[in-house]
Amino acid sequence: MKILVIGSGGREHALVWKLAQSPHATQMWCAPGNAGIAQERLVKNSLPVECISIGADDLPKLLAFAQEKKIELTVIGPDNPLALGIVDLFQKNGLRIWGPNQKAAQFESSKVFSQNFMEKYGIPTARAGTFSDATIAKKFAASLNGKCAVKADGLALGKGVLICANQTEAEKAIDEILVAKNFGAAGANIVIQEFLEGMEISLHAICDGKTAKLFPTSQDHKRALDDDKGLNTGGMGTYSPTPFLSEAELKKVGDAILNPWLRGCAEEGMDFHGILYPGLMLTKNGPRVLEFNARFGDPETQVYLTRLENDLVELLDASVSGKLDKIELKWNPAASVCVVMASGGYPGNYEKGKPIRGLDEAVKLPNVKVFHAGTTLKRNEIVTNGGRVLGVTALGKDLRTAQAAVYAAVEKIQFDGAQFRHDIAAKAL
Ligand code: AMP
Repeated sequence: MKILVIGSGGREHALVWKLAQSPHATQMWCAPGNAGIAQERLVKNSLPVECISIGADDLPKLLAFAQEKKIELTVIGPDNPLALGIVDLFQKNGLRIWGPNQKAAQFESSKVFSQNFMEKYGIPTARAGTFSDATIAKKFAASLNGKCAVKADGLALGKGVLICANQTEAEKAIDEILVAKNFGAAGANIVIQEFLEGMEISLHAICDGKTAKLFPTSQDHKRALDDDKGLNTGGMGTYSPTPFLSEAELKKVGDAILNPWLRGCAEEGMDFHGILYPGLMLTKNGPRVLEFNARFGDPETQVYLTRLENDLVELLDASVSGKLDKIELKWNPAASVCVVMASGGYPGNYEKGKPIRGLDEAVKLPNVKVFHAGTTLKRNEIVTNGGRVLGVTALGKDLRTAQAAVYAAVEKIQFDGAQFRHDIAAKAL
């Protein structure tokens, strides 16, 4: 099968790496990819994965490429092409593609849509309201004593959620989004949720329009610095499984979310093929969904795909064709930990082009895989090319072993200004 993967981050490297292990994969491209993706080879025939310089949002060029190469399965990593309707475009042109269509991608592209959907179908979520008028929004925030999360409706590069501790902060946040229009059209409407306290975890379920199969739990680390200090980032590390839900509890929580979600999808004509990724807060009153994403998490993918034992081509194929009920997900019982190495200054300004040393030594360590994110080749040398640079990932018989293995690998890798968290998975230990 000829496969095209779209995106350039650690998530996409993990997808390419896992797809390349399938005997079904005969040729693979990634648009635009990164230096690590370009080093992958297909297990079946040793052909290299080819990176092509087409941006993930350039739908017309991606379509033309897929038609020219007669791609048999296109796999979408990031949220933006989904929100732009890449799935609808490819399907209209008779091409097989994995991911939710534009209507189904609204679970991520519109927080107002998701909040209303959760309330309509009884999915456990925060007390919330949706607003376009600042005065009415401020009254609602006051009813929560200003302790709330103010969220721009649309995609805002992960920056559209403002956490407020009091009414002054809430009014400032509401004004920034609705009045000053700092997020443009993505902020024409907002969701205000009560502030929830508890342990935050990530859920993933693979869906085929009728069936949703839940993954084990994982936990991201959003803040830049140890002990959850510093600014919010795209994610500085993950581990799976987490000890916060037993298997029985996970099943119960999964049912409480996915059963009404599937019922709602059927009633609203949402044909969702892809990953539903609910962000979940485990509060003292029970689990609450904070938001839905409509794609694999990054860096959750790195820990999930190092544990997944199924053939990923077969799994995605079943998700496209509505045959997930025939597949049983199989997971390596080992724990996986991913530590993101980022450029100095991230998530603020940072420099690019720093040579990365020690990669060869790190990958020689047992049970270690180094996924690339912001990397590129410059004069035959791998250099930094983004905020999040690498997702160093290790498997171990338990979390403590995996954590020791991953930090041993991180120590081998150096680039100017490299920063990473030293406490990934510590909450579980
Ligand atoms: P979201 O993109 O909606 O998941 O929000 C980004 C981050 O903001 C989440 O990962 C949480 O850490 C935090 N957050 C969002 N909503 C709430 C809430 N209602 N209460 C507390 N924290 C929240």
